[in-house]
Amino acid sequence: MNILVLNCGSSSVKFQIIETDLDLIEKNADKRLAGGLIERVVGQALITLEVEGQAKIRRAEPLRDHRDAIDYILRWMISPDSKISNINSLAGIHAVGHRVVHGGEKFTRSVMIDDAVISQIEDSIELAPLHNPANLKGIHAARELLGPGVPQVAVFDTAFHSTMPETSYLYAIPYQLYRRHRIRRYGFHGTSHRYVAYRYRQIMGLKREETNIITLHLGNGCSACAIKNGNSMDTSMGFTPLEGLVMGTRGGDMDPSLIEFIRNKEGMTVREIDTMLNKQSGLLGVSGLTNDMRELLDEEAEKQDRRARLAIDIFCMRVKKYIGAYLAEMGGADAVVFTGGIGENSAAIRERICDGLECIRLGLDKKKNSATINGKEGEISSSGATLKALVIPTNEELLIARDTVRTVKNVPRRW
Ligand code: AMP
Repeated sequence: MNILVLNCGSSSVKFQIIETDLDLIEKNADKRLAGGLIERVVGQALITLEVEGQAKIRRAEPLRDHRDAIDYILRWMISPDSKISNINSLAGIHAVGHRVVHGGEKFTRSVMIDDAVISQIEDSIELAPLHNPANLKGIHAARELLGPGVPQVAVFDTAFHSTMPETSYLYAIPYQLYRRHRIRRYGFHGTSHRYVAYRYRQIMGLKREETNIITLHLGNGCSACAIKNGNSMDTSMGFTPLEGLVMGTRGGDMDPSLIEFIRNKEGMTVREIDTMLNKQSGLLGVSGLTNDMRELLDEEAEKQDRRARLAIDIFCMRVKKYIGAYLAEMGGADAVVFTGGIGENSAAIRERICDGLECIRLGLDKKKNSATINGKEGEISSSGATLKALVIPTNEELLIARDTVRTVKNVPRRW
């Protein structure tokens, strides 16, 4: 089956077309046929398109909304100039998999989209006011443009974490707030943590229930996940993606009393402070330079910039803290797995995070660590380490495509 994977953000649409099916999943032989990104969807959009094995195409076109963007992608896909193998009409798209950020407490796995599912996703808008409306726009547009004959599946970022126990997901605030307003920790990046856990057990030849690892998704957004017996037992993002690790522009954990204090001192509104904590904090906030880890590492190396170093040090220390917390919470683990743009590509950051962790039998092999970058997968720990370290590049789109096939064919998930 050719699956169109759609990831709609507030002003962007990312897509991939992946050929997959039950037998291809079994053989790990699914194929990415094409992909791309449309940014600045409202206005003069920037379009990047790529057919596997061919050069990237970049264009700028005026597009009004997400529907226009998806229409553009579909037209390009079937046009002679894209030449995607075996797709020359819309009939070549057999199903659509949508990334949906928030499934609330309702969705614990991927589901076929129908009107009832759409209204339940709408119910979760107040929990993810920036993301779910964009995801819904993508769903409505794809349904309208492809017609009712093409099944559509929702894959939720929160679903993997639905196995968290109450002790992990409840905040220690008055319980009625959970009852009345569903205030609890949901966690995000679930598709990434789940994919990485799946690859880990494949590499190690383990059963799902034997998977006891800490996964670290370190990209522009960052989260850690404690995976015990194959299930998420805790994760660092909470009610929103703001909680937990230090990220590109999010500060992660902090004392909530700061909001009132900053409001009084700086004369800011709560909304402005929320924006500041999400968009102007983290690596960007501490360094005052950039949210981009690569640039910070360059600033530190070339100009010995003190605040660049500080931002990186705070980032690494927070990750270290979560590794320790999760080890205690899980009663030990077999491996720590790095993924995401930073986790997959920066040997220096992995080294700084693991520095001093010999005390928990986690040591890196310098050579293996520095060689495992740019999409490479493998173990990077030293021979004596009993808590192993691995790098596993994430592939959320592949997991969405696979879940779409399994859901359409009504085959229970086996990952
Ligand atoms: P993501 O959101 O997963 O695409 O990750 C983006 C982050 O990964 C940015 O902070 C990048 O600077 C960072 N990144 C990508 N490549 C490298 C690298 N070679 N060294 C350090 N950071 C990197």
